[in-house]
Amino acid sequence: MSNSDWMARSLAHVWHPCTQMKDHEWLPLVPIQTAQGPWLTDFDGRRYLDAVSSWWTNIFGHRHPHIVAAVKAQLDQLDHVLLGGFTHEPVVRLSEKLSAITPAGLNRCFYADNGSSAVEVALKMSAHYWRNHGKPAKTRFICLNNSYHGETLGALSVSGGGMYRDAYTPLLMQPISVETPDCFHRAPGEAWEDYTRRRFRDMEDALARHADETAAVIVEPLVQCAGGMRMYHPIYLKLLREACTRHGVHLIADEIAVGFGRTGRLFASDWAGITPDFMCLSKGLTGGTLPLAVVMTTDHVYEAFYADYATQKAFLHSHSYTGNPLACAAALATLEIFEEQDWHARNRRSGALMWTLMAELASHPRVADVRQQGMILAVELAKNPRKREAYPAEERRGLRVYQYGLEHGVLLRPLGNVVYLMPPYVVSDEEMAQICEVAIQGIEHATQN
Ligand SMILES: *Cc1c(COP(=O)(O)O)cnc(C)c1O
Repeated sequence: MSNSDWMARSLAHVWHPCTQMKDHEWLPLVPIQTAQGPWLTDFDGRRYLDAVSSWWTNIFGHRHPHIVAAVKAQLDQLDHVLLGGFTHEPVVRLSEKLSAITPAGLNRCFYADNGSSAVEVALKMSAHYWRNHGKPAKTRFICLNNSYHGETLGALSVSGGGMYRDAYTPLLMQPISVETPDCFHRAPGEAWEDYTRRRFRDMEDALARHADETAAVIVEPLVQCAGGMRMYHPIYLKLLREACTRHGVHLIADEIAVGFGRTGRLFASDWAGITPDFMCLSKGLTGGTLPLAVVMTTDHVYEAFYADYATQKAFLHSHSYTGNPLACAAALATLEIFEEQDWHARNRRSGALMWTLMAELASHPRVADVRQQGMILAVELAKNPRKREAYPAEERRGLRVYQYGLEHGVLLRPLGNVVYLMPPYVVSDEEMAQICEVAIQGIEHATQN
């Protein structure tokens, strides 16, 4: 069976995510047969370097031997069991470990099987906490413009506008939206920290005005990933933690994309030294092997639900595959890989190399910004960088970079006009050089005429 056979069979029955299916009349699907480390191989034997970690999940490369062995061993013991009324070794050990490594005070783990569901859990838990505390009016949420928290209706409600959301607006909750601290919009010469502090005033105003009706503020710490890898200074998180406490509003840190070392610390919240009331984790949690998500929260929140059954204070939320043993075993193995060597030191080196190789683009006539946070580097293409005039979306410049990348053996998947690198932590210097070379040539190619 060749690529074209699988392509045809896939198009006959598989409705692919995040895709206008008609595009595949001219844009080939890529059927992948095998993967190893940062490499994907298709059915025609072509190889692609996975520079986006398969949608940001695959932090230690594909089929990491330690994770593969752990999942195989678990499969010989226990495949799945319901987590209501039952428990098992991998979920206990994983919860102990997560409690130990997440910011101090996050000792309670509630599981789901994807990021959007984790966001739903955090939103519901927060509002339910206030109800249990005799404040049932606190049902709204404050979110940042340009944010992304997932695709289910609750998660989509607290996400910024745009294509993902617009078609569903009539179905969604009405959040309180606050201007993003995204430093792309800072004045020329303005320091990131100054801009971020300036932007925080909008959040302070929103909290002052809406605290009585607000359950929680939800943010993506440091990097708004799906919103185009837009970045801000950690001072925002420090100010936000302090203000949320002062106004009696929960803070939800959605670390689904930035958790597990991506920003240069194990968790992005660590840059600000804060403990959110809820932390959502998924994506890198299992090293990109199996779906799993968790909401970490405090003993204080947990205790608000801990009461006699008849008081009806319990958190009655569940998913069938909650805490699946195979996924928990993969997550434990992933955390063990972190303990094996100093990945932050390695990533500091890889990140510095990535910057060295990409920095020349800062002076490119069609590049408005090159920015980096740890193992995320983003290049913002623009029609007129000086005026910050974006390319019209229908020109699909990013898609040209995607096509160029595939033709040259690198999987890049730009977000609109933003070309980003988010490689697995295991890429070698040579592989990093290859990724950067193809990205630069792809940008050159996509911005001609
Ligand atoms: C990917 C993502 C989600 C949604 O996770 P899924 O597993 O795709 O549902 C939520 N929040 C952030 C910040 C994400 O990057």
